Amino acid sequence: MKEEDVKIFGLLGYPLEHSISSIFFNYIFEKLKLPYGYFLFPVKPSNLSSSLNKLKAIGFAGVNVTIPHKEKIIRFLDILSPEAEAIGAVNTVIAGADGRLTGGNTDSGGFINAWKKEAGEKIQGRSFVILGAGGAARAVIYGLCKEGAGRILIFCRHFAKGLKIEKLMTEKFKKTEFKSFNINDEKLSSFLSEKAALINTTPVGMHPDTKNIPVSIRGLRKGSIVYDLIYNPEKTLLLKKAKSMGAKTFSGLTMLLEQAGLSYHLWTGRKLPDDLVREAGKFAGRFL
Ligand code: NAP
Repeated sequence: MKEEDVKIFGLLGYPLEHSISSIFFNYIFEKLKLPYGYFLFPVKPSNLSSSLNKLKAIGFAGVNVTIPHKEKIIRFLDILSPEAEAIGAVNTVIAGADGRLTGGNTDSGGFINAWKKEAGEKIQGRSFVILGAGGAARAVIYGLCKEGAGRILIFCRHFAKGLKIEKLMTEKFKKTEFKSFNINDEKLSSFLSEKAALINTTPVGMHPDTKNIPVSIRGLRKGSIVYDLIYNPEKTLLLKKAKSMGAKTFSGLTMLLEQAGLSYHLWTGRKLPDDLVREAGKFAGRFL
């Protein structure tokens, strides 16, 4: 095996108490006997630029980016991947040998890979109810549209944000129909009763506020698909209620592992073995 250089990776976000990314990646690096390290960098928005400069000074190889920096970090980067540009959010930064920083987005591919592995049902022509209109919503919607989704129904608390996503995506994806609603709009239950898949991209229900649910899921039908991007806890109140109503429910854990694998590929040009990703995910999952 080729001798490897030390490489520094990490996660930039704030707060980061809920993150299991360092456990996941360091488990993999140890198993692959790589001299790599993955660190949590809890950085407040006011320190984002100076923190990036410090990471550059120590020669970091790349970072993942999470709330609240996914959009704000763009202005500090030199290049954006086509996905990151279309989505308007970055979750992976790659430090080039020339010192330039490239922003990518693997949330989109991570969600689609997770859907294909877990839900396994056709995306093409299907209707999706998306809760929330932030960075993760845009990534999920972009991925679904690329796969030929029939209808995207965005339910969010700031209606203008939904309209903005509609405008952005309609320009790119002519075959998908878009419509935005206020998160409390009564139409939600009629879409659920038509068996639109429900995807929660809001942080409502995430640790420590686990007793919260983003919307009432009246109208949800037996056999419907419900995804919650939250992975801590793995069974949110939304998923528990949906399951008790006969829905097929999925947490954000597989998406988390899939997007991590795609980030590793962007950083190193190598693919992680599926069984090692599952093993590391299982190990890291114990810390949720
Ligand atoms: P974000 O950009 O801050 O967007 C969050 C969205 O949720 C915004 O539209 C926000 O509304 C909405 N929201 C927040 N609180 C709400 C409330 N009380 N009621 C209704 N809507 C509310 O965050 P993000 O990056 O998209 O992440 C969102 C969630 O997805 C987080 O829980 C994150 O951990 C999860 N996520 C998981 C993965 C994974 O791999 N599993 C990947 C990415 C994200 P406003 O726009 O009105 O503020």
